[in-house]
Amino acid sequence: MKKNKHYLLPDISRPGKVGCQLPELDVPAAELPPREKLRQELTLPEVSEAELVRHFTSLSRRNYGVDTGFYPLGSCTMKYNPKWHEDIARFPGFQDIHPYQPADTVPGALQLMFELQELLAEITGLDATSLTPMAGAQGELAGLLMVRAYHRSRGEDRRRKILVPDSAHGTNPATAAMCGFEVKTIPSNGDGNLDLKSLVSLMNEESAALTLTMPTTLGLFDPRIAEISAIVHERGGLLIGDGANLNSLLGKVKFGDLGFDCVQLNLHKTFSTPHGGGGPGSGPVCVKAGLADFLPSLLVAKDKKRYQFTSPPITIGRLGAACGNFGVMVKAYTYIHSLGAEGLKEVSENAVLNANYIKEKLKPYYHLPYDRTCMHEVVFSGKKQKARGVATLDIAKRLLDYGFHPPTVYFPQVVEEAIMIEPTETESKETLDAFIEAMIEIAREAEQNPELLHHAPHNTPVRRLDEANAARKPNLRWKMK
Ligand SMILES: *Cc1c(COP(=O)(O)O)cnc(C)c1O
Repeated sequence: MKKNKHYLLPDISRPGKVGCQLPELDVPAAELPPREKLRQELTLPEVSEAELVRHFTSLSRRNYGVDTGFYPLGSCTMKYNPKWHEDIARFPGFQDIHPYQPADTVPGALQLMFELQELLAEITGLDATSLTPMAGAQGELAGLLMVRAYHRSRGEDRRRKILVPDSAHGTNPATAAMCGFEVKTIPSNGDGNLDLKSLVSLMNEESAALTLTMPTTLGLFDPRIAEISAIVHERGGLLIGDGANLNSLLGKVKFGDLGFDCVQLNLHKTFSTPHGGGGPGSGPVCVKAGLADFLPSLLVAKDKKRYQFTSPPITIGRLGAACGNFGVMVKAYTYIHSLGAEGLKEVSENAVLNANYIKEKLKPYYHLPYDRTCMHEVVFSGKKQKARGVATLDIAKRLLDYGFHPPTVYFPQVVEEAIMIEPTETESKETLDAFIEAMIEIAREAEQNPELLHHAPHNTPVRRLDEANAARKPNLRWKMK
């Protein structure tokens, strides 16, 4: 990797080199703007075409992605998605249509959306779906706006609190606050489940809903979900699910059966669109019949054999200019149909099997705070290594030297020195074994040569970055010195 440095443009720029040839002028020459408006100097690098291609190619190879290696991030499913689903989404009949063209010119697209609404309702065991939200967080927003509208419609405006477990994904409390709710945190108990005593004491006539990620962000299935649901509903609240990562429940368990009133799904995690590239997302919301009239518009309805856009009677409104990210819907539809009911079940079985395999193999080396069967992800703690002066960040950085993207670290915050690993259902045993081996090797290094870890990574193009500054003050343009 280091050798690529040779191709950095500032180093190889030489006056007079050109990377392209312009044809002879075969149109009338245009007047240039007046001299004072022209830049006298344009400090662009001067390189040949081959050098330019090598420069950009070498930059692209410094990227790590799911197409180059294993990507075990917890809480954000980063699995491999079949490439041919992209081909389907690029069919001209799907790609070249416009959200504002007359609906009767695109019946096939509407049919696909209608059927996807129904498929997601069936998968979640709920009654109605709106596909419009364009991210998981926007799906959460739709859910809580519906919660607010629901309580208002019953004259219960005083329900202004949303209960959120302490292990929740950051978007959950943020969304509640954005909707103007007051956030009340519910602690987890020693098993990693929701603390029922706290729930009982906080769930009162001022509470609007409990938002619960299932499986929890600790990668666990809360076995007392029926009790949780009863407590929330008996006291007039709603149970809102965060189904961003559904790859352990697909085909196995339905949110509706667990007592949830509403859940958002991340099609760009579970259903065959890559997550994490900042590309288009889709976070449909599925609800029980009692919330269906509030769903965000537009929905697709079927009237005899005709499909058309409709708006629910007391909709919370629109969440975007059009009807959502259609290309992502096409891929989800393709994914569901290509796997079928049996295939979706297998997804869950493999996701859970892979996570538990890693859990059992790494348990002797890393502290496991909740030693029980996990779902699609497992949360370790770097506590043992920390006691020897090796931080979880050092472990994560060292993994880069072994050619692996690090897992999520320091989240969920309820686990000290958290290391949150989601292998996903798409990785082979060989890949998992190689990752496990690297993790074991690093645990050994932490005992024998902690100094090595303090300075990791050693063989990446750049070492430790100032991530906060990189995000807040991005420097995206190269300038000639
Ligand atoms: C990814 C994720 C979200 C947010 O989804 P975005 O599409 O990034 O907005 C919310 N909750 C959980 C549990 C997630 O994993």
